[in-house]
This record gives sequence, structure tokens and C-alpha cells, in this order.
Amino acid sequence: MKLEPKVYLVGAGPGDPDLITVKGLRILTHADLVLYTDSLVSEELIASAAEHATVLRSSGMNLEELADSMAEAVRAGKSVARIHTGDPSLYGAILEQMALLRQRGIAYEIIPGVSSVFASAAALGAELTVPDLTQTVILTRAEGRTPVPEREQLRSLAAHHCTVALFLSAGLAEGAVSSFLEAGWSEDTPVAVVQRATWPDQIIVRTTLRHLVRDIRNAKIDRHAMILAGWALDPDIGEGGLHRSKLYDRSFTHGYRQGLPEHE
Ligand code: SAH
Repeated sequence: MKLEPKVYLVGAGPGDPDLITVKGLRILTHADLVLYTDSLVSEELIASAAEHATVLRSSGMNLEELADSMAEAVRAGKSVARIHTGDPSLYGAILEQMALLRQRGIAYEIIPGVSSVFASAAALGAELTVPDLTQTVILTRAEGRTPVPEREQLRSLAAHHCTVALFLSAGLAEGAVSSFLEAGWSEDTPVAVVQRATWPDQIIVRTTLRHLVRDIRNAKIDRHAMILAGWALDPDIGEGGLHRSKLYDRSFTHGYRQGLPEHE
């Protein structure tokens, strides 16, 4: 299969090489140039690049060098797979790459991937949107060296009492806990931390706001971790038939099924 000569920004998924999309894998296995940076992209996945492909770890390159090498390949009629961890649209720094590619007149396309937030939910066996409890998930990060806009401070986002997913925050748990408490969350609120979801060394920690900092420290988690907070993470949340969705309720009529009257 011959790919179009352009740059494909491919989401590799959270780690497990089987969690790349079919389209992403097709591009990876046929691209002429494969570039990846992240320690969160599996070497096993990268090993499925075509035999003739040039495979480069881009960590030593600056952004301009990276854009130049991609542009040069495309101008020579080659296809480029730029592999990103999870889904490229979340904390993937693709905006600046796309801008430099546009400046150079190079075509690109984004191939979505399975974000670590969803891989973490799967590892936990959790539904993040629980009927009657929360219908919202906020994807954010705690503030560290990278500033977060004032109007998106965790303390104000948490005021919604929905499910909150914190990327890039394993080392910032203490500040995050203070923000949740300031927003009025109880210390008993369930929190789950998944380090390296879907990797062979995946670690799961289930705790509460009260013990989050201690438990992260005890588990020696300091990076590559997703923090999920809110009552949707309560391991007992689905027990007793509470929080059932209307979708499968016998009295609920929707486009594909006629519900039964309430009393039947
Ligand atoms: N685009 C990626 C996120 C990149 S930012 C995505 O969609 O998942 C890197 C952060 O993502 C990490 O600090 C961590 O919070 C999270 N992350 C990435 N891979 C992970 C994994 N396998 N398990 C848990 N968290 C992960």
C-alpha cells in the first residue's frame, strides 16, 4: 500500500501496542519515515514499522529540525508517521508542529488514538458518567511549572462536582487535593490513580482525597499516571441497582425500542 506523501500525526494509544487504531497501524506499517519521542510509545509498536522505513527518535531534535526533516521527506514523495501517545489532541503539542508544517506548505492529517484517560477508566472498570450522579468529565491538569489559565483553576472546575481527570499531575497531588477541598469536596471522595495504564507494569491505586498524597508516595508513583477523582470512581457505585441508565430501562422509549408502561 502506498500512502500519500504527507505527515500523519498518529495517536498510538496508551501503551498496549494493540490499542492503536486499525488506520493508525496501517499508516505506521507503511510510512517511509517514522518519528516518535515519547517514553510512552511502545518500542514493540514502533517495531512494526516497514522494513524500508527510517525510524527516528525525535527527542534530540528541536521543533524546527523536526519540521524540516518531515518536510524534506514529504517533498521527496515520502509519507511520514509522527507517533504521539494516547490521542494527539490532548497535551500532544501538535499545534506548533502543524503551524510549522503549514508554513512549509506540507499537508498533514491527524489520526485519533485511545487516550490514557479512557485506558485508565477501562483498567479501573469504571464508567466516568454515572446516571443521576454526574454526566460530565473534565479533562485537565494540576498547575505546576506549566501555568493553567486563571479561569480554569482546579478549585473552580471542581465546583461542578463531576468526574475530573488529571493529566500530567502525578507530582502535583498535594496542590490538587487542596483545590478539591477548597471546592467543597469531601475528604472521602474516591480517587483512583493509574500509572502506565495498559503497560505490563501498570499500577492501580484506589484511595480517597484524604489519603491520595500518602498513597501515591507509597506506591512510588511520580510520572505517567492518570488521576481520576469523583464519586463515579467509587468501587461500589453500581451496587444495588442504583444509578441505572434510562437507555436500558424497560419503561423508557427511544428511537430503537418501545418502552413498556411503568406499571408492567
Ligand atoms: N495525549 C496523551 C496525553 C499526553 S500527556 C493521551 O491522550 O493520553 C502525558 C500524560 O498523559 C501523563 O503525564 C499521564 O498523565 C497521561 N498518560 C499517558 N499515558 C498514560 C498511561 N499509559 N497511563 C496513565 N496515564 C498516562
